[in-house]
Amino acid sequence: MYESVADAIGHTPLVRLRRVAQGIDAAVYAKLEFLNPGGSVKDRAAVSMIDAAERDGSLRTGGTVVEGTSGNTGIGLTMVAASRGYHSIVVVPDKTSTEKIATLRAHGADVRVVSGARPTQHPEHVRNLAARIAAETPGGWLAGQYDNPANPDAHYRTTGPEIWQQTGGRITHFVAGIGTGGTVTGAGRFLKEASAGQVRVIGADPETSSYGGGDGRAFYIESVGHFVHPESIEDTWPASYDPTVLDTVERISDQESIDVVRDVARRDGLLIGGSSGTAVAAALRVARTLPADSMVVVILPDSGRSYVSKYFDPEWLQRFGFDGVAAPVAAEGPRA
Ligand code: PMP
Repeated sequence: MYESVADAIGHTPLVRLRRVAQGIDAAVYAKLEFLNPGGSVKDRAAVSMIDAAERDGSLRTGGTVVEGTSGNTGIGLTMVAASRGYHSIVVVPDKTSTEKIATLRAHGADVRVVSGARPTQHPEHVRNLAARIAAETPGGWLAGQYDNPANPDAHYRTTGPEIWQQTGGRITHFVAGIGTGGTVTGAGRFLKEASAGQVRVIGADPETSSYGGGDGRAFYIESVGHFVHPESIEDTWPASYDPTVLDTVERISDQESIDVVRDVARRDGLLIGGSSGTAVAAALRVARTLPADSMVVVILPDSGRSYVSKYFDPEWLQRFGFDGVAAPVAAEGPRA
């Protein structure tokens, strides 16, 4: 029994991927972050950032939580904001799925949809607009997940320790996608420390994203990767991402991520989102090279429910060339 929804965040189960990992000697376990109350791994960062802001006084009674986000962080923030009586304003890029936007509105958020195809210096770029709204709104507080230390700290304090405890310290490889980098940085750092440096930390990244060495071209998978707008004058990685925690980054094509999403739903009974497909593809690639006594843990950030109109829709797959018949059509804008 919990006294509020925020207390029900975390403590997610690890489930072994059996059928998609058939023929692989190492064990591959998935951490089902879509079982968080707001439906994603970002609930952890959301409550962590709000708690920190309440502690340092930057968020006060009657205040307004503001964020620029592709969706899940906004859902976590608006969920906690609703339960604690704060207002919320969320700026989202126009490629955000309709399901996510509807969920934000359901929690009472004021959602502003803007073009995601703007360079970082543009005043109406998602993050710039969110910062301006926070500054202009009385009682406004910008969560700022990209450089808020309470984001990676959430995973250092909760995700990492949960995995260490659940596996009885037997984990040998940790795999997570990189969006803000909070998950892989925080949980990865904890697992490295707990294992005296033995656990390998692997980032999973869309093929053209720049985290893994891609040229920053747009990709389809939402919420992970680093897209470099061709007109951006400067584009640096977020402060919440510490690349020194990672041993390697696996680069996964949109097609492979989508194939894995569909495979996991059909063969292991787990309905997972696109970035989970990217992460599982990386986990399977790594696990294939490992001996039987290895244990790979992969983060599944959100559910396929938010993407039924994409990866599970034959028409969408056909339109963008992901049905294995036509060549994939280039993405039209940023997807991260
Ligand atoms: N997958 C999904 C679906 C997400 O919403 C996010 C958060 N942007 C990530 C992966 C990446 O997590 P992080 O920001 O902790 O790197």
